[in-house]
Amino acid sequence: MVCAVQLRYGFRLYPNGPQCAALARAFGCARVVFNDALGVREDARTAGLPFVTLGDLSKRLTASKKTPERAWLGEVSSVILQQSLRDLDAAYRNFFDGLKGKRPKTGPPRFKSKRDNRQAIRFTGNAGWKITHGGKLRLPKVGDVPVKWSRSLPSIPTTVSVIRDSAGRYFASFVVETGSEEVLPPVTPEIGVDLGLGHFAVLSDGTKVGNPRFLRRAEKQLTKAQRALSRKERGSANRTKARLKVARAHARVADARREFHHQLSTKLIRENQAIAVEDLTVKGLARTRLAKSVHDAGWSQFVTMLEYKASRYGRTFIRIGRFEPTSQLCSVCGVQDGPKPLHVREWTCKECGALLDRDINAAVNVAKAAGLAVSACGARVRPGPVPAQRDEAGTRPKPRPTTARQTGIAHLQVSEDLKPRPA
Ligand SMILES: [Zn+2]
Repeated sequence: MVCAVQLRYGFRLYPNGPQCAALARAFGCARVVFNDALGVREDARTAGLPFVTLGDLSKRLTASKKTPERAWLGEVSSVILQQSLRDLDAAYRNFFDGLKGKRPKTGPPRFKSKRDNRQAIRFTGNAGWKITHGGKLRLPKVGDVPVKWSRSLPSIPTTVSVIRDSAGRYFASFVVETGSEEVLPPVTPEIGVDLGLGHFAVLSDGTKVGNPRFLRRAEKQLTKAQRALSRKERGSANRTKARLKVARAHARVADARREFHHQLSTKLIRENQAIAVEDLTVKGLARTRLAKSVHDAGWSQFVTMLEYKASRYGRTFIRIGRFEPTSQLCSVCGVQDGPKPLHVREWTCKECGALLDRDINAAVNVAKAAGLAVSACGARVRPGPVPAQRDEAGTRPKPRPTTARQTGIAHLQVSEDLKPRPA
C-alpha cells in the first residue's frame, strides 16, 4: 500500500531589484510578527498568566496593524504573517513535545534576527499566489518572479515558501501531494546498507560507495575559501567579501551532497525491492564527536530520502532497531564474537573461518536482521576454508529483527527542495 506523500520541490528564483526589496520587506514583516508574538507569550509566562493561544495572537496581530508603529505590516501579504504565527506555534509544539519525550529535545523558540542565515516566508493556497502562463511565480505584493524550472511538478502545489539563503540566493519551495501513481514494477533484489566513515555507504552485495568527485571538489573549494577568510583582517572589506565566498562554498557543498544523496537513493530504490538501514542513533554512539558532526546530517538526509522514495515508489524500507550488534556478528555463520576496535577493518571468523570485511559484514547483518533475503557471500573478502555445515538448530545466537516492516509513511514531509543546478 502506498500512501499520499507530501513532497517539496525547490527551484531557484531570480527576483529583480524591486522584487528583492519587496521580499526583504516581507521577510522583515514575518520576522517582526514572529518576534512580537514570541514576546507576548514570554511576557505572559514571566507574569504567570495563561498561555496565549494562536487565536489570541492572531487578534493582536490584526489590532497592531491599526497602530502607527505597526501599520507597515499592511504592505505585505497578510497570509505570510499568519503563517509566521503558525511557525511560532509549531516551534512551541516541538519544544513541549521534546520536554514530554515525544520527540527529540529542542530548545525553546528563539527570537529571529535580520542576520539569520536563512530567511523564509510561506504563501498558502488562499494567499493568491500562482504560476503564470509565462512560467513566472506571481507572489502577492511582490510581483512576477522569474523561476528556473529544473524539473516538472507532478501536480498543482498547495503551498510555496520563498527562501533566501546565506549566500544571497532565492528559492521557491513548493509543497506537492503525490499519490500512488508512481509505483515501480517489482524487482527481486533486497539490500542492506551500512553507512560508514571510510565509504559513504557499503551495500550487502559488496559494493562500496564513496563520495563522488563533484562533492569532494566542492568540499575542497570550501576548505580553500575558509583558509582565505582566516587570513583576512577583521573588519576589512576583503573580509566581508571572503565571508560571502565561504557562504557560497558552503551552499555549493550542501547542494552537491544533496544531489549525490538523490542520485544514490534513487538508484537503490529502483534496483531493490526492499532496503534496510541501521538506525542512525546507534551509529552516532560509536563515533567520535567530530566525525559525528560531519556525517550525521548527511546520513539522516540520505536515509530520509530512501524512506520517502520507498513510500512513493512502492518499495519496502526497514530501519533496524537499536541493539543489533552489526559489527560483532559473523554474517556467514551467525556467531557473536564481541566488539572490535574501529581500526580492525577485516578479521577471520573463529567459528567458520570466513575472512570478513567489517563494512560489508555490517551491511549483510543489517539486511539479515531486517529479514531480507541476502547472501552472506558478499561479506567475505575471500572465501575462507569451507566450514563443516552446522546444524540449523544450533544454539548460536541469531540476529533478531526488532523492527517491523513498513511500506508506507503517511503524510511524511521531507525536504527535497533546493536541488542544485548543475553548473
Ligand atoms: Zn562465522
